[in-house]
Amino acid sequence: MNYETVIGLEVHVQLKTKSKLWCGCATTFGAAPNSQVCPVCLGLPGSLPVLNQKAVELGVRTGLALNCTIAVCCRFDRKQYFYPDLPKGYQITQFHQPLGRGGWVEVPFAAGQRRVGITEIHLEEEAGRTAHFPPEADNPGYSLVDYNRSGLPLLEIVTAPELRSPEEARTMLETLKVLLEELEVTDGKMEEGSLRCDANLSVHRPGEPLGKRVELKNLNSFRAMEAALAFEAGRQGVLLTNGAPLDREEARTWNEAKRKTVFMRFKEQATDYRYFPEPDLPPVSIDGQWVERLAAGLPELPEARRGRYLREFRLPADDALLLSKNKAAAVFFEAVLGFYNGEAKTVSNWMLGDVTRLLKEEKIGFTDLKFGPEDLAALLSFLDRNEISGKIAKIVLAEMFQTGTPPAAIIHARGLFQINDPQAIKALVLETLAANGEAVRAYKSGKEKAVAFLVGDVMRKSKGRVNPELLDRILKFELAVDEIKDIGLD
Ligand SMILES: [Zn+2]
Repeated sequence: MNYETVIGLEVHVQLKTKSKLWCGCATTFGAAPNSQVCPVCLGLPGSLPVLNQKAVELGVRTGLALNCTIAVCCRFDRKQYFYPDLPKGYQITQFHQPLGRGGWVEVPFAAGQRRVGITEIHLEEEAGRTAHFPPEADNPGYSLVDYNRSGLPLLEIVTAPELRSPEEARTMLETLKVLLEELEVTDGKMEEGSLRCDANLSVHRPGEPLGKRVELKNLNSFRAMEAALAFEAGRQGVLLTNGAPLDREEARTWNEAKRKTVFMRFKEQATDYRYFPEPDLPPVSIDGQWVERLAAGLPELPEARRGRYLREFRLPADDALLLSKNKAAAVFFEAVLGFYNGEAKTVSNWMLGDVTRLLKEEKIGFTDLKFGPEDLAALLSFLDRNEISGKIAKIVLAEMFQTGTPPAAIIHARGLFQINDPQAIKALVLETLAANGEAVRAYKSGKEKAVAFLVGDVMRKSKGRVNPELLDRILKFELAVDEIKDIGLD
């Protein structure tokens, strides 16, 4: 049966501050358990939170980049629930008056670019982390709590339910991740939990109202998110087809080992959390001029950069997208153009082709390259001046990549200059023709493929240094001369 899928994301971003949201404790990842705690983030009675202004600043910057309306005044609320990693018995979050609302982001989906709404962004505190140790022979099992994460500043970004497939959800999250890294508001490391995503998914028959949504929790990688959403869309699709009632909102989690989503609990309603205004924190009034200054200080974002690459460098759409969404690649690309007089497309071809392939093989990025943008520019200039062939350029690039040696030094040391002298090429050709009588006869009897063999022989002898265009012309000329001799016209 035909059904449609609707997906919205809740992205939790750990803001890159030196200290936590309400106290001065450090935010360093990987410290010894409970070494970065104080009475405030341990929720001890009588301690009072003080808002970290840097977290508000990073939140506002993100809101501006997401085209949100920034609140003139925002407030904090208590969300009540009990869990050992939440020592106060409530989480301080923003429910009634969040930091920003009503934004959007341009997303380059496979089917074309589309604007996706941002419902709201709000600040909240992180909980601690619980580790469970199952029972063993000599102990009944136990759990430990680490409060180092308790009170870390989080920004939650809630997207509108406007994503239509798991692939679109993934592209959306990738787009947000790139944007957040570009803004330098988070380090975006999913493996360290500084970028996390929950997803809401529902299915419905075309033309009918949206179904009840299922919230998928703790999707810790792009792959897990896409797989969980695909499984869940299929599961709900089958239920809908069989007429099962999809009338309760539930939370489910992704089980990587079983490759399926697993029921956690029926969803709490907002009333279950008894939200009420946080009495220990006054409302925050946000100065309009401060927001304007932050807006003026925003860096060029990937979307704007992509547009500029299309206009300024006339790159094809795919090249512009790939280069603009990777900040390190974009910085390198523009630096190469500063040293290079040729076409921007040539630089893009090499960066997205051979250089990217080498980077992928070593699993590193553009910032790890041993050679600089001036070296790639020099290599491409050698090629443009016909001093080396394309084939040789690839060999030189591989050595630059391994050692960081400038291309001129490699080309001189290894004698890789292209042979452009027609007399020298003619000598090599005549040598080859004399040594390969059989191939020459094959060519004369109409086997065009024999030319490729003869070209290969000259290239082998010259270690690939012969100008291929000249070689082609001279070889064909000499073969023709040879045929003319045969018919006695000489
Ligand atoms: Zn603390």
